[in-house]
Amino acid sequence: MTLAHGRPYLAIPGPSVVPDRIQNAMHRTAPNIYDGELIGLVGSLWPDLRALAGTAGNVACYIGNGHALWEAVDTNLFSRGDKVLLLASGLFGLGWANVLTAQGVAVEVMDFGRHATPDLVRVEARLAADDGQIKAVLTTHVDTASSARTDIAGLRAAMDRARHPALLGVDCIASMGCDEFRMDDWGVDIAFAASQKGLMLPPGMGFVWFSEKARAVGATAGLRTPYWDWTPRADGPEFWQYWHGTAPTHHLYGLREALSMILRDEGLPNVWARHEALARTVWAAFDAWGQGHPRIGLNMAEPPARARAVTAARFGAPDAARLRHWCETQAGVTLGIGLGMATEDDPQGSGFLRVAHMGHVNAHMTLGVLAVMQAGLQALAIPHGAGALEAATAVVAAVRA
Ligand SMILES: *Cc1c(COP(=O)(O)O)cnc(C)c1O
Repeated sequence: MTLAHGRPYLAIPGPSVVPDRIQNAMHRTAPNIYDGELIGLVGSLWPDLRALAGTAGNVACYIGNGHALWEAVDTNLFSRGDKVLLLASGLFGLGWANVLTAQGVAVEVMDFGRHATPDLVRVEARLAADDGQIKAVLTTHVDTASSARTDIAGLRAAMDRARHPALLGVDCIASMGCDEFRMDDWGVDIAFAASQKGLMLPPGMGFVWFSEKARAVGATAGLRTPYWDWTPRADGPEFWQYWHGTAPTHHLYGLREALSMILRDEGLPNVWARHEALARTVWAAFDAWGQGHPRIGLNMAEPPARARAVTAARFGAPDAARLRHWCETQAGVTLGIGLGMATEDDPQGSGFLRVAHMGHVNAHMTLGVLAVMQAGLQALAIPHGAGALEAATAVVAAVRA
């Protein structure tokens, strides 16, 4: 017998849960793309997208997933042979480096492994030793594979201490609308996010924010081609130029709802606080499960270095894979796979999994996932510490209205 029938829950780090309100807004016939209501609706998106990222700068939209955004950013900034410094804390940082390399950019990767955020002392020393070659410092805000969260304000401070003029570019795909992010306050020149994570939309749309400095540095970018060019996408003035073709009509109706939900109904600081509380709920459960069972634990040891959008954790091989399978088939909850976490004695990465808590997620969803995992541990006789659910509910109970 299975208890999986009922509403399934995809608790993976993207695509995230799409709210009914967003689905309903998208459920309609295609609008006129030459004039009428869609044009007005789009005009209302730009200020809200800026508010989401915390910038007064430029924003360009793309029809594409996160991988498309890597190419979008690279083509607008670089020429073949340009040098960049990429700080990696997991598979996604390394993925961006691969794209840059394929595009002909000279990437110097500082790889901090899968359990650490960038060491800012080392980054500062590297930049201080640079003779003006490094054009940009690129990193992930949250690396979705390791759930490492980089201190972006600290990174900017390290760049400033080194008196280095490089651009700062940050992949915010996993974190935008989940983890606190303040583009202008933190001195970020380029940031980008995709629709299917904190923005609660289906995959297929991406957003790039860029400063005037990035615009100026990128003005001579040799890799730029008309489709990817962010200038008309940000400036128009013709409606089709914002998309370089047909607008992503239905996504735009969904995006309108998503931004209203985040910025007006809940409020961005409250959205960040909700993600923080839910992340702590998950961490509390893992701390209890791992008591006396060192096979079980969070991937990132230090709380400030942990994402608030997703948690990567280990159960030991092959128990994470067994538990994922149990949760999906017996309880209707799909957990994320351990991405890029393969080791020599666990080539499939079957000792790792990820619990997503990004976007349209509340306490009953996260506590439900943890309770299901607890049941799975019991059903599969995976040894674990006691008291995880009490610890998790205590975090939720301590949140004041
Ligand atoms: C999801 C993600 C990507 C890739 O996005 P796709 O839509 O799967 O192409 C890149 N970077 C980060 C940090 C992500 O979380």
